[in-house]
Amino acid sequence: MRLILMGPPGAGKGTQARFIAERFGVPAISTGDIFRANVSNGTPLGVEAKRYMDAGEYVPDSVTNEMVRNRIAEADAEPGFLLDGYPRTLAQVQELDAMIADTGHCLDVVAVLTADQDVLVGRLLQRAVIEGRADDTEDVIRRRQEVYAEQTAPLIDVYRDRGLLVEVDGLGEVGEVTERIFAALADVDQS
Ligand code: ADP
Repeated sequence: MRLILMGPPGAGKGTQARFIAERFGVPAISTGDIFRANVSNGTPLGVEAKRYMDAGEYVPDSVTNEMVRNRIAEADAEPGFLLDGYPRTLAQVQELDAMIADTGHCLDVVAVLTADQDVLVGRLLQRAVIEGRADDTEDVIRRRQEVYAEQTAPLIDVYRDRGLLVEVDGLGEVGEVTERIFAALADVDQS
């Protein structure tokens, strides 16, 4: 299975990605997590990425694409993978197409979590208190949502046109949302 999990900041992608990946026996690859690990370790990639992340902007495609290409080439991703937070731009979509084509496989499904913007801002402000993420301040949260609407939301139509899209309501208890995702993916599995 090669899956993408999409959705606006705060929709719960990271939480759900872990459950879905476990169910399908593939690694969950989160670009945000990889960037944060690099920031913590003070790597050159982390230093570069932090400038953008702290402002709520996207890290340049050239940087992100190379990072994902390397990650997907690792042995554990050979049977498949779940991408959380990638692709986020049309250029990343094209790059991912090329990466997958190079391995002789194809993308199976793109699941998008939908949720109301104001609810999401509330969730992220809550998370700020718990996790203390540098980009969870109200201004940066609003900026991340704008950037998502401008650069990432258009990808939904691209994947819908390819017949790969499943939309799942991301509001409710974590377990409820997980069940909805599994149900939506089971339909895809059988089709
Ligand atoms: P969220 O979805 O909650 O905004 P993520 O953890 O997915 O957070 O990403 C955090 C930040 O990492 C983003 O705001 C962005 O700066 C950077 N980032 C993550 N994935 C990408 C990507 N595919 N392209 C560019 N930047 C990215």
